[in-house]
Amino acid sequence: MKIKSAAAQKILNSNSNYTIQVKVETESGFFRGSSPAGESTSQYEVAQFGSGIDAEIKNFNDFLQTLKNKEFTRIDDIYLLERTLPEEFIGGPSLSLSYALVYALSNSLKIEPYSLFGKKSLVLPISKMLGGGVHTSNLGMDIQEILVTTISGDLRESINGTLSVYKELKELLKNSTYSFLGGVDPEGGFVTSLDNYESLKLVRKAVEKVIQKTSMDIRLGMDMAASMFFKDGKYVYNRPIYGKKEVSREEQIDLVKKLEKEFDLYYIEDPVDETLIEDYGEILSDSHALIVGDDVTATKTDRLEAAKGKMNATLVKPNQVGSLYKVKAFSDLADKFGLAKVVSHRSEETCVSIISDLSVGLAAKYLKVGINRGERVEKINRLLELN
Ligand code: PEP
Ligand code: MG
Repeated sequence: MKIKSAAAQKILNSNSNYTIQVKVETESGFFRGSSPAGESTSQYEVAQFGSGIDAEIKNFNDFLQTLKNKEFTRIDDIYLLERTLPEEFIGGPSLSLSYALVYALSNSLKIEPYSLFGKKSLVLPISKMLGGGVHTSNLGMDIQEILVTTISGDLRESINGTLSVYKELKELLKNSTYSFLGGVDPEGGFVTSLDNYESLKLVRKAVEKVIQKTSMDIRLGMDMAASMFFKDGKYVYNRPIYGKKEVSREEQIDLVKKLEKEFDLYYIEDPVDETLIEDYGEILSDSHALIVGDDVTATKTDRLEAAKGKMNATLVKPNQVGSLYKVKAFSDLADKFGLAKVVSHRSEETCVSIISDLSVGLAAKYLKVGINRGERVEKINRLLELN
């Protein structure tokens, strides 16, 4: 396919902040890509707009003129363009352009976008039930996310199981004395005034109720996003957990192990600070769960190399690294190390559902995405289309 024109503009993301959209015109029509952002970011991820969004869009529009009449016939042509992009555009601009090009290229080849990435797998959703941490402005629990998923089975069953827990949880919240006014956080998790321990207990109760009715294998997980409350060598909780508000590195490791045992946690993301790779290993050595890197690995191959043997799963968030060839390299390395891959949404999303295609085409185990809010449901619906 040949590019007739390409232009960038500012659009809003799901959290009412501006992001970039790139629109590419080919002989077959217009194709769009836009990039998400995170509220809880890692120090290792690339900046989305290094010199500010307005300046970046202006400069990027100048650059996009140079793409006129450029031919793309395979995914490697997109990877090659990414490799030669000026460094200043790596982040929101580069990723939005690559997404638009993926849609344009797959249209011209008459194939689904996922198949450009080489594989095809069954991907199950892992979804947020309760929100906390920075996603609820540090007003709720400290654990950023309490999640549920199914271990195996068919996609439709898995979605039904997750949805049933979500609805059961809403009933439990409505009928409780806890302060709950029906609100959800940016990723669709309910927002309550429960503390960390009460939150885990309540989601476990909802899971048990659904298991009783359906005998599905539904499991509990959490993203602690622990870097967000690691201050001067201590984890500082707003709400006490096992009776403590400030815990040392060693105490945090014990606390996570205790939570895993008590709640039979299947999925534990970022249980310790992103700089403390050794501590992930300490938890893994005594765990039956998926110990998942997010802020610690930041979709960067050098971070994954350093984390080898210290975790058994990793998130894949394309905008942490800003280009698809780096995402592919990261995914290949995760495969080489035998890690489970979890392609993930960000807290500030757009309606583009390409992460669903990426999860299938990179053969990830899970897609971490909300089960509520239009921009998330769009991605679940895309999974349904592909399976
Ligand atoms: C996460 O931390 O896993 C997450 C999806 O949130 P954010 O996009 O805010 O990093
Ligand atoms: Mg995370």
